[in-house]
Amino acid sequence: MSDGKIIDIVNPEVLAHYDLLEEIGIIDELDRLHVRLRQSSEVIREAASLFSEPSVDSLMDHLVSSLVDKFIPSHLILVLKDRNHKASPSIVCFENLKQVASPLKINNFEPFYNFFSARPKSINFSKFRSELGSTDIADSLGPLAPEYIFPLMGIDGIFGFLVFGRKIVDQDYSPEEVKYIEDLVTFASISLQNIINYADAITDFKTGLYNHSFFTRRMGEELANAKRYEKEITLLLIDIDHFKRLNDTYGHLAGDEVLVCIADAIRHAIRAGDIVSRFGGEEFAVLLVQTVEVASLVTAERIRKTVEETSVEYLGNRLNVTVSVGVRNIGKKDDATVETIIHQADQALYKAKDEGRNRVCVYDDRLE
Ligand code: GH3
Ligand code: MG
Ligand code: MG
Repeated sequence: MSDGKIIDIVNPEVLAHYDLLEEIGIIDELDRLHVRLRQSSEVIREAASLFSEPSVDSLMDHLVSSLVDKFIPSHLILVLKDRNHKASPSIVCFENLKQVASPLKINNFEPFYNFFSARPKSINFSKFRSELGSTDIADSLGPLAPEYIFPLMGIDGIFGFLVFGRKIVDQDYSPEEVKYIEDLVTFASISLQNIINYADAITDFKTGLYNHSFFTRRMGEELANAKRYEKEITLLLIDIDHFKRLNDTYGHLAGDEVLVCIADAIRHAIRAGDIVSRFGGEEFAVLLVQTVEVASLVTAERIRKTVEETSVEYLGNRLNVTVSVGVRNIGKKDDATVETIIHQADQALYKAKDEGRNRVCVYDDRLE
């Protein structure tokens, strides 16, 4: 029976023809439409809240917990590929509403990825099993009593997949429920792609640090903040010494390896709230927030020393480099702009190079 939202059953015109409408199935059809409409609104509401998640982890947590709460499957497993193909996939597993360690014993996810790359749609498990051709691989999901698998697809291919176990209440998933999950997984995939695109847009690919344009934008924000709350911040410009010589001697790939290791060394020598970027070729910029000048000099010196003590193994060679660091502290009453601060840190860096490299120099106005 319609609840009256789609069809106004108290309308005398409708009442007069009600039996006919029911007989020819209009009332049932309206009921179905009503359910679909409610479900679409729910998907859109859920999708909107997924879109507000800032990170891959929080997005996936949100997606999985909302699906677990809604369907209460015996198991729900999310397998997410490592984008850089360096680590094994991350696996999140829920069993009866509780997060548990994954019971999956799969060493090779490639067959799953290949299957969904060729056929990027949700699939009922028994069909998956017969189409995959390899029962071993399908059987490895056996302990989960799987019913459906939903792939998460992005522009470059598959991100991963979700495996739904049977519902605890022991009913099958209705076509509407499968459609709901498909829609939500599609929105989650779009959101995941957005997060990845944004991360790529602000990251230097080689070192994984922030890139130049993101750094200067964040520096503008931090500078405005520092002025408003009368805090000090400090810019460090760090340049690898004689890097061309290292490239010329050991080759560009060796140079690349050194760049990555020095980026890591700098990242480890600063605090969590500080912002570090690859500013240019062999140059890094660090913004130290919530600091005072003395403390920032200690950090600059720690970075210099850490790099000096870092050895990079490359094809049987031990490679060592040093860095020069230019420091520009921005005091509470300082009204310099981002551009002037960068220029002044650069002058301090030149001085460090001039005085023999592998040292820290602080800007002062006599350098102008
Ligand atoms: P200085 O001590 O005066 O800074 O000397 P330098 O040799 O480091 O400076 P120079 O500006 O002459 O050379 C910088 C070198 O950095 C040249 C360039 O090939 C290298 N470089 C820049 N980006 C990269 C990169 O991504 N990978 C590698 N391997 N080298 C790079
Ligand atoms: Mg340079
Ligand atoms: Mg250099």
